[in-house]
Amino acid sequence: MRLGIISALADEQQGLVEAMEGPSRLVHGQREYFVGRLWKIDAVCVLSRIGKVAAAMTATTLVEKFGVTHIVFTGVAGAGDKSIRVGDIVVAESLVQHDMDASPLFPRFEVPLTGQTHFLGDHHLGQQLVSAAQWFLNHGLEDAISEAERNVFSLTQPRVHHGLVASGDQFMNDKARLAQLNDDLPGLVAVEMEGAAVAQVCHELGVPCAVIRAISDNANENAATDFMRFVKSVAAQYAFHIVRRFCYQIVQPSIDSADT
Ligand code: SAH
Repeated sequence: MRLGIISALADEQQGLVEAMEGPSRLVHGQREYFVGRLWKIDAVCVLSRIGKVAAAMTATTLVEKFGVTHIVFTGVAGAGDKSIRVGDIVVAESLVQHDMDASPLFPRFEVPLTGQTHFLGDHHLGQQLVSAAQWFLNHGLEDAISEAERNVFSLTQPRVHHGLVASGDQFMNDKARLAQLNDDLPGLVAVEMEGAAVAQVCHELGVPCAVIRAISDNANENAATDFMRFVKSVAAQYAFHIVRRFCYQIVQPSIDSADT
């Protein structure tokens, strides 16, 4: 296995890059790729920057130039529905590009000439991430994030969700638009700006991929408030501890089911 790890924002990934053993830094297409070992897994970490094109370009390069065999995208997202709370974790079961609309030539959301509206996350990777995330919430959260920071974001009993993630080139900060999207895409758990692009690329290149996101905001008018503070003090910790546990589980599958 050679694992590609993509994040959109620098703060989300910094801890992972620092944890790499013997990393080498390669610049390609205006991005920095860090190649090394991450908890015994051969890995490549890269920042895609924000948006679907940036993410698609990065995912393609990871596969074509760096030879990754699996991709995990880790980042933050807006809550897709009222039952999802800030601090919860979402793992994508399937992903849709919510701003794709070539109707009436093709049905809304369908990526023209693929016949698909939804692209699936890899089931096995997704299950591994769900169990790593659940383990972190049960055993790691209190040590990883100070009580003061947990209080700032009201992180009481965060939960893990597995469901539909919608991506588009738009920061969602409008309650009415989110409600409309909820009607159009039942079962939505998160909105973000990259995941579905990575899922399409991985589908087309035949590489399993998974998307995991910490919920940073409610995708409404307050979405930008404290966003960067959440990324630095909460999401960065989530990404670090969950990816570490995920790598442990891959190296030693027997710990997977133990005591989540
Ligand atoms: N205020 C930030 C903007 C980041 S854009 C800045 O100045 O840098 C938001 C990033 O987080 C994207 O990578 C996206 O995938 C994710 N995201 C978090 N909340 C989102 C929301 N409500 N709508 C869309 N994307 C969101």
